[in-house]
Amino acid sequence: MKLGRRNFFGFLGQFPLWSASAAGASGAPAGEDYYDKLGVTKIINAAGTYTNLTASIMPPPVQAAVARAALNPVRLVELQKAAGDYLARKLQCEAAMVTAGAASALTLGTAACVMTANRCSIRDIPAEAAHLKNEVIIQKAHRYGYDEALLCAGIRFVEVETLAGYEAAFGPRTVMAHFYNAAEEGSISREDWIRVAHAHQVPSFNDAAADMPPIANLWNYTKMGFDLVTFSGGKGIRGPQNAGLLLGRKDLIAAAAANNNPYDGVGRGMKVAKEQIVGMVAAVDWLLSQTDEVMEKEFRRRAERIAAHLKDLPGLRTEISVPPVANHVPHLSIRYDQARLKISPRDVMMELRAGKPSIELNPSTGRATGASAGITTDANTIVVGVWMLQPGEDMIVARRLREVLVKSRV
Ligand SMILES: *Cc1c(COP(=O)(O)O)cnc(C)c1O
Repeated sequence: MKLGRRNFFGFLGQFPLWSASAAGASGAPAGEDYYDKLGVTKIINAAGTYTNLTASIMPPPVQAAVARAALNPVRLVELQKAAGDYLARKLQCEAAMVTAGAASALTLGTAACVMTANRCSIRDIPAEAAHLKNEVIIQKAHRYGYDEALLCAGIRFVEVETLAGYEAAFGPRTVMAHFYNAAEEGSISREDWIRVAHAHQVPSFNDAAADMPPIANLWNYTKMGFDLVTFSGGKGIRGPQNAGLLLGRKDLIAAAAANNNPYDGVGRGMKVAKEQIVGMVAAVDWLLSQTDEVMEKEFRRRAERIAAHLKDLPGLRTEISVPPVANHVPHLSIRYDQARLKISPRDVMMELRAGKPSIELNPSTGRATGASAGITTDANTIVVGVWMLQPGEDMIVARRLREVLVKSRV
């Protein structure tokens, strides 16, 4: 594929080296380096958009929009409303709101469904919810760590495993049907999930937090018919880490907003500051100026550069693969024979972490089980997530990997 001139420069614009928009006249960012001041280690992120690694770096135009938003006070509700209206237009859905991450969107969206089904007050959630309609239907295989965020709205789960079981699960206490978009198991399709929920006039919610790219997913699931959809703002979208998107039906978004701050509902502690609301909107603008093809090509090139630097090591093979739903970008797998390179992938990971600069490999590295969302791995495999690397860092990672593997050669 040939890079169009506009796409090429648009893509470069995300990198600090080629943009001065968030920098002082010298090209260095303005302000004191508080990581240095606090003694906090800056890392090279060869893992991916993991929460404990602060997920992603905002592209320079987003950083600049955040800095600019810090210059003026505004009316919070007016900003929330204007940002939501703008995002709904850009993302082709009825309504939208900026939340404090996808987990917050799960709580607020669920609270919206409880409130709408019961016509109750925000103060009834979560304490009185047990006495109200509060059942959320979910596939057993879709139960996940994030479902705590739904439980915060005072709901209880009703688990189903088959389409017949799903149809039979609706009752007078049902308020919502929840779908985990990247679940690797579960026999009921998205289309059936929506169709049956709608036949019972129950809203359906899809958690697609880590499921962009492709960019079009930002409207695919609302257009498919889900009444609510969430995306994390700080993962692939590269907005502020404490921001997220709740997209969907106008009445439900309004109910979610009623449960959010500045009102004293379940979302009072989920505040998104003006800087991050603006940052979320700016990140969506930035993302919509990119293309999946150009981004994928760049990620693949990084993976290929690292692979080329290692490929002559004895008994080592590399493979580039793209997980199917979440983190749907090229990842590099490096598989080798531990009889010939006498170090385990987990120990390689520790050495890179302890080195200077400190590098974080993908947490699926060396995992026989429990790999991170859709990534295939095993006890002999190092996984490099290349998409959050900054310019030039791919070769730093390649050189460090080579150094650690070569000294373990038998
Ligand atoms: C990351 C993630 C979340 C939480 O997103 P935050 O923006 O960090 O709150 C929720 N659900 C899924 C499936 C995720 O991958």
